[in-house]
Amino acid sequence: MSPARPPEPLPAAAFDSHCHLDMIDRPVPDVLAEARAAGITRMITIGCDLPSSRWAADCAAAHEDVYAAVAIHPNETAAAAAGPGGADGVLAEIRALAALPQVRAVGETGLDYYRDRAEASVQQDWFRAHIEIAKTAGKALVIHDREAHADVLRLLAEEGAPEHVVFHCFSGDEVMAKRCAEAGYVMSFAGNVTFASAQLLRDAAAAAPAELILVETDAPFLTPVPNRGRPNVPAMTAYTLRCIAEVKQLDVAELCAAITATGERVFGPWRA
Ligand SMILES: [Zn+2]
Ligand SMILES: [Zn+2]
Repeated sequence: MSPARPPEPLPAAAFDSHCHLDMIDRPVPDVLAEARAAGITRMITIGCDLPSSRWAADCAAAHEDVYAAVAIHPNETAAAAAGPGGADGVLAEIRALAALPQVRAVGETGLDYYRDRAEASVQQDWFRAHIEIAKTAGKALVIHDREAHADVLRLLAEEGAPEHVVFHCFSGDEVMAKRCAEAGYVMSFAGNVTFASAQLLRDAAAAAPAELILVETDAPFLTPVPNRGRPNVPAMTAYTLRCIAEVKQLDVAELCAAITATGERVFGPWRA
């Protein structure tokens, strides 16, 4: 396979709201240097279970470009509950990690009705618990929503949403984008928005207010065009950002500034 084509550097700094640095098969400093060269100067690395959440918190403590999010992914909830300590023990540790200063979000949590690795009722209990942890910790909530829009919106309304909610890898249509906008929820678009088949997602991005848009890689997954099929890294956020700028007919530098401002509003001020 030919090497991935590096993106043209962005005209201003931006950031990757969602990546899994622990799953990228390269040294973290190399990945960060490559991201910085593309204009992606910060990123949030996301936990999916207890070990990856601990790893994310440690990584964010060690690298000042990196912030962490911690949670049990909806697909991992049944396995987490079956482990030593049970659900209560696991949630107690997520709560403790969420209180750390370099941990800026609780996520990824939510509902995944596409994969059936945990029953819907189990996923919903864990999602409710994560909503409560985010509110108590005063951190953003990063949501994984796969074929579960209605229940995700319903549980947020029932529990009372945290101040900052991010739909990661936003997968809704224009109607869903408008519903999120009304609630003040942030929509983070991933590399799949660049796929030729993704006109519905581009329509959603067109409908989303610029101040409620973030971009992400979900690296190592979902590599944007023109590198689709190759492993993803945070630097590739630049392609997705340029795609959104084109869809919204915004100047790229302007969108970089808007995304950086939204990032600091949602995840708290960056370290100097
Ligand atoms: Zn996800
Ligand atoms: Zn993810």
